[in-house]
Formats: sequence, C-alpha cells, structure tokens
Amino acid sequence: MFINEKYIENLLEESKLATAEDVQAVLDKAEKREGLNHKDIAVLLQVEDKDQLKKMYEIAGQIKKDIYGKRIVLFAPLYVSDYCVNNCVYCGYHSCNTFKRRKLTQEEVAEEVRILEKMGHKRLALELGEDPVNAPIEYVLETLKTIYNTQRDNGEIRRVNVNIAATTVEEYKMLKEAGIGTYILFQETYHEPSYKKMHPNCMKNDYEYHLTAFDRAMEAGIDDVGAGVLFGLADPKFEVLGLMIHNEHLEEKYGVGFHTISVPRLRPAKGVSLKQFPHLVDDELFKKLVAIIRIAVPFTGMIISTREDADMRRELLRYGISQMSAGSSTGVGGYKEREEGNEVPQFKTSDERSPIEILNELIDDGYIPSYCTACYRKGRTGERFMRLAKSGNIQYVCEPNAMSTLMEYALDYGDDEFKEKAEKLVRTLAKDIKRDDIREMFLENLEKLKNGTRDLYV
Ligand code: SF4
Ligand code: SF4
Repeated sequence: MFINEKYIENLLEESKLATAEDVQAVLDKAEKREGLNHKDIAVLLQVEDKDQLKKMYEIAGQIKKDIYGKRIVLFAPLYVSDYCVNNCVYCGYHSCNTFKRRKLTQEEVAEEVRILEKMGHKRLALELGEDPVNAPIEYVLETLKTIYNTQRDNGEIRRVNVNIAATTVEEYKMLKEAGIGTYILFQETYHEPSYKKMHPNCMKNDYEYHLTAFDRAMEAGIDDVGAGVLFGLADPKFEVLGLMIHNEHLEEKYGVGFHTISVPRLRPAKGVSLKQFPHLVDDELFKKLVAIIRIAVPFTGMIISTREDADMRRELLRYGISQMSAGSSTGVGGYKEREEGNEVPQFKTSDERSPIEILNELIDDGYIPSYCTACYRKGRTGERFMRLAKSGNIQYVCEPNAMSTLMEYALDYGDDEFKEKAEKLVRTLAKDIKRDDIREMFLENLEKLKNGTRDLYV
C-alpha cells in the first residue's frame, strides 16, 4: 500500500528536530520553486515561528498569484439523495441517524437545477450518500442527464463534478461516458486506524478499497480526480503528508495527480457532537495547512466550501484557494426548501451570502469571479491540463474566460449597477492581457456577449 503509517509518523517525529536553519533552507527551496520532498513538507508542518510563518504565507501567496492570477472559480453543490448505508461518525446522514430520508425525483432535480441557474451557476458538484438500492449508479446517470438537459433562459449547467462513493471500474466507466467533470472523493483520513474507527460496521470501512478508488477511476479513463480529507478526524499533519503521497502515487502510475484538493474542516451536524474528536483544527493551524498544500502542489486547484465563514474564505483566497462554492445549500432539495424556509442541511454552513454578494466582494478585493468550464469542454483534462498549467500558459485562457463568464453573469443576472461594475472591470483588465490576439478576441467576445451570444471561451 502506498500509504505507510510508520513512514509518515517517522517523518513527523524527525521533523520536530528541525532547526531554524533547516526551516529556512526549506523556505528558500520553496521560494525558488524547487519541488519539495516529504521531509521538507514535514518540516514546514512543524513551523511555529512567527517570522517563518509569515515568510511561508508570502511564498504561498506568490505561488497563488503567479499560477492562478486573479480568477476565482465558483460552483454550487447539489444534494440529491440522503439515503446512506454507511456509519461515518462525523456525518449527519449516517445510517443510525433517524430522520425521514429522501431522494429527488428527476422533476425535483430539474427544479433544483433551475433555481441554481437562476443564481447564475454553471458548474455543480453532485452529492449523494452511498446506497446501492435507493440510489444506484443508474440513478446517478439519470440525474446527470437531467442536469445537463435542464435549461432556464440563458442558464445552463456546463460542468458537473461528481462525488459518489468508491466504486468499481465498470461504474467509473459509466460516469466517464455520462460526461462528468471531476470525480471527487475524499479519503476523509489517511490514518488507517482512525479511518476504521470513523467508519464502523459499514461498506465504507474498507480503507484499502477507498484509498484505491482513484486508481480504478483512472483505469476507467477518468483523468480529473478531486481529493480531500476531513480535517479533524486524525492528526492534520499526517493528513497533509497522506495527501501528498497519494498525489505522487497517481502521478507515478497514471502521469497525473489530483486535479483539485478540498479542505473541509469538521463542522457540527445534526446528531454529531464535536466533543468526540481530539484533532479539531483551529484557525491558525488551518491557514498553515492550506499554505503548505499550496506550496507543495502548486498546480492543483484548491477548493473551499461554505463550511468556512466569509472572513476565513477571504483570507485563504490570498494564499491557496482557487475555487469556492457560493450560495450553497447542503440539504436534499435544499434550494427549493430554502426558498420556502425549510432547509435540512448535511452540515452547517457558515457563509450564507448569495452569489451576487460574494461576487461583489471578490471584485472589490481585486479578484475576477469566474464561471468558467472551458478546459473540460475543450478536452484539456488530466495530463494535457497539467502540461498547460505547468507551462504557465494556463493564465492566457483562465483570465479571459473568467472575464467572459463574469460579463455573461452580469448581463443575465446582474442589476444595472453590477453590469456597469463588471464591464468596467473587464475592460480595465483587458488592457493588461499580454497577448494581442487574446486581447482582441476577448474584446470581440465582449461585444458578442452584449449582443446576446453566450458561452464564449478559449
Ligand atoms: Fe454517508 Fe457520505 Fe455521510 Fe458517510 S459522509 S454517512 S458515506 S453521506
Ligand atoms: Fe479552470 Fe480551465 Fe477555465 Fe482556467 S480555463 S478556469 S483551468 S476550466
């Protein structure tokens, strides 16, 4: 097995002996963008000195800026079924929790999608519990078809990332054929004894089957996979090294590692008390973990959800996060229920602002909110995507696409004030586009958008 508990524990033990000079040497290496090895990452995980932390955040911030520019990609989760046969002790959907479970009919899925489209969303993360009887793969496939086929005025969902339980190569092939974006699966924890404890008496208890899910997905041809751990279940430093080693395993075996990493922290949920978890991650440590992941895997997108409050999300954008959810509901049928005031979420969210409030703040903070879904539709996935990202040329597509999708959002969902603000921003940014051909194309597209054409991207 590629995750070796003793090896990671030894790294963490040895790194506690690192001197200030050792830390400085790793920071210098990181600043020069020389790849970091496991030992280096372990050393960074032990940094407590204020000045060295400051330096670490600066390096992470610079990497973020150089690779991701100003764009922040926005998406929303869509929960379609809370049937679940598993017993994850940290989740409100675990099978011992008694509440009336439901899954959406296809008509209800379409209704949720129309509400999301009305909010301006183009990119969704499909979420459901594991239940081979009530929510089998056929249900997921039908749901995907419904999502892609549901339009509302100019609104359409252009990319659906899918978060379903670990499964077989055959089922991953079906997902691939259905046109999914990223396949998302969180390892929850890389620490096997904690993993077993957190998933008692259920299908998800098989650590190895869960850990090798991305291998099967890649064998099935899915080359964009999104990883994550639930910080708080085990030693968070162990988790960061686990993520890095898992990423390397995929790179070595399939030529491409994680497309994204999500960084959820344990949150209160119905029927779940936080007192039983000794490894909860406080704000300071959380920021450090995000910065270290950014430094260690510069080309892997990082995702934050509305579990975090507005201030924390804002801060993490500076040195790590490149994608965030907006206007999320984490309950099945939650968007409609929210409109009616009866939402029952999987976990509590902390940023309940509407997308337009979030967009306004992002623009005021100097970012370009983006609804871009171009890469997957242009076939820029897996290794091909990573080549483009690593060459640095990705910025020539990300920023113009962010600007086009922002303008499209403003025209379709913004009031006059927002339209004006968005247009002013994109026209100013257009002046900074270095390549003449791309600048001209963007300005042409801007006119086309204003004349009613949609979905323009490079
Ligand atoms: Fe089920 Fe997923 Fe919740 Fe576990 S985390 S109980 S698998 S919905
Ligand atoms: Fe993401 Fe590709 Fe769009 Fe850039 S161009 S924001 S990498 S989909």
